[in-house]
Amino acid sequence: MPGLKLDPRGLITSCPSCGAANRLPFAHLGQPTRCGKCHTDLGPPAKPVDVPSAALFDALVSSSALPVLVDFWAEWCGPCRMVAPQVAMVAQRNAGRLVVAKVDTDALQDLSGRLGIRSIPTLAVFDRGDLVSRTAGAMSAEQIEAFVRGAVADGD
Ligand code: ZN
Repeated sequence: MPGLKLDPRGLITSCPSCGAANRLPFAHLGQPTRCGKCHTDLGPPAKPVDVPSAALFDALVSSSALPVLVDFWAEWCGPCRMVAPQVAMVAQRNAGRLVVAKVDTDALQDLSGRLGIRSIPTLAVFDRGDLVSRTAGAMSAEQIEAFVRGAVADGD
């Protein structure tokens, strides 16, 4: 699946068949969606999506029908580079049940400050707009999945 992009109302993905850009609306994430042009099944978001602004971050976490796992990282951070492929694996294995987003803490310093992110990598789970759990330090995909399961169970 090609890369995903955030917009104020959803995730933009390219149709695997015709290449048309399609929006997966936040409120319908996790539900089957077909291409508006050729009606091919688009499949759920299966890759991490980069968060380009605090406003789009807020739109995503407040409106997403699925829990959102956020990876707070920075270019210069060695452990972040180790955790990135694990986070990507989690996105792929949990497609349709979880949205995975990445926040560059250097680019979005105001957002990271507001959320009190003090060390990176930090992984945080948002469910219906609330930050339900966070953890710092590099982890394997299996450890991340266990962390997400615990976070979402506690939130219910
Ligand atoms: Zn299409």
